[in-house]
Amino acid sequence: MAKLADIVRACARSALDFALPPRCAGCGTIVPDVHSFCPECWKAVEFLGDRGCACCGLPLQATEQTHCARCLARPPRIVRSRAAVSYDDLSRSLAIRLKYGRKVAIARTMAHYMAPLVAPDPEAILVPVPLHRTRLWSRGFNQSALVARELSRRLKIAADPLLLQRIRRTPPLKGMSPLQRRKTVAGAFRVTDKSAVAGKTVVLVDDVLTTGSTAEACARVLKRAGAARVELVSWARVVKPSQLMR
Ligand SMILES: [Zn+2]
Ligand SMILES: [Zn+2]
Repeated sequence: MAKLADIVRACARSALDFALPPRCAGCGTIVPDVHSFCPECWKAVEFLGDRGCACCGLPLQATEQTHCARCLARPPRIVRSRAAVSYDDLSRSLAIRLKYGRKVAIARTMAHYMAPLVAPDPEAILVPVPLHRTRLWSRGFNQSALVARELSRRLKIAADPLLLQRIRRTPPLKGMSPLQRRKTVAGAFRVTDKSAVAGKTVVLVDDVLTTGSTAEACARVLKRAGAARVELVSWARVVKPSQLMR
């Protein structure tokens, strides 16, 4: 009987696999592996991986060693920032579809490429960059929280989407200078449970990293609440400053 049950289960599984073939997150063509890109999209995506400045992750000039000049001059609050891919039309379209479509499959694809960039620390906590509650109500979910949940499942690290709260609604930062951005997000976040972050490594999870001023504001309150170390992992990051003004 046990054997029969196994066969039935195997058939059901293969029928499901047949009904829902894995599709490329970029263009939708059928791919052999779940949560990956087709060869064409793969070629178009610029994977950043673990290269670049050991601290901020930005691509280094040939003359620089492990850290970029900016991080050497003024070490940032976020000691390690990593992004899976460079921000371009394809990575942007994934971020937009995740934001407005609650596509769990897209969150899984992002997590698939982001997970290897998170340092393996079972004591760390994944904390998504929060949305203000009014935005959360209108959208129904936080796209970064979806990604954090998927990362948590893959890495077996705790995720807490309620640990950070956005207490002030901020206007879109698009088109602002780095200084304007910093001023706009200052004081916009609060830690809800200080005892949960004290002495811990907190890994902030974001979808798109631009100048990093939002993440930096989050890191400020986390450090103030006693976090030992703040890191950041994002899906895409703007590498060319000209893209900021789009
Ligand atoms: Zn594709
Ligand atoms: Zn750097």
